Amino acid sequence: MYRSLTAKRKNVSAGQRELTFMERMYLPAILKGMKITIGHLFKKKVSLNYPEVKREFSDFYRGMHVLKRDENGAENCTACGMCALACPAEAITIDAAERKPGEEHLYREEKYAAKYEINMLRCIYCGLCEEACPKDAIYLTERIVPAYYKRKDFIYGKDILVEDINNRVDITKRKQPIKKA
Ligand code: SF4
Ligand code: SF4
Repeated sequence: MYRSLTAKRKNVSAGQRELTFMERMYLPAILKGMKITIGHLFKKKVSLNYPEVKREFSDFYRGMHVLKRDENGAENCTACGMCALACPAEAITIDAAERKPGEEHLYREEKYAAKYEINMLRCIYCGLCEEACPKDAIYLTERIVPAYYKRKDFIYGKDILVEDINNRVDITKRKQPIKKA
């Protein structure tokens, strides 16, 4: 024999009442909606016309990385691998190489990163690579990683990560200690 799992019985018709004339016209609901819409016209906009207008980021915003050069233009990175080890997303791949005589102007130390790649799809922009680096070589910047159609385009190599010697990336703000609120 069929037994209901609940003792309650919903009587759909019970409690229903006739709609008033105004309710049948939907006027109160329309006016209520209009009031909300018009109210928003006078509120400060929370959206921006990106990319023409850009939002100001915090000094400590963590965006796209940069591999820094020293004051003479040589790459700071010595391929120690500390950043790759610290990275929780395993986003960094490094191949180390020995500096050859005559390459002192290119690489600051005897060892350098022949290959340095960051998979931007894996990266969670935590900044641990920056914190782990003992050579002042890697920093996260305010720059945003753009959108691409192909996954392979998100693998950033040295051609993108190492700063342009003629167009240095300013990381002064990031080097300042965080002020307590
Ligand atoms: S920001 Fe974090 S996740 Fe991204 S590469 Fe650095 S350590 Fe890895
Ligand atoms: S970026 Fe820094 S931590 Fe990473 S390999 Fe280069 S020197 Fe080492």
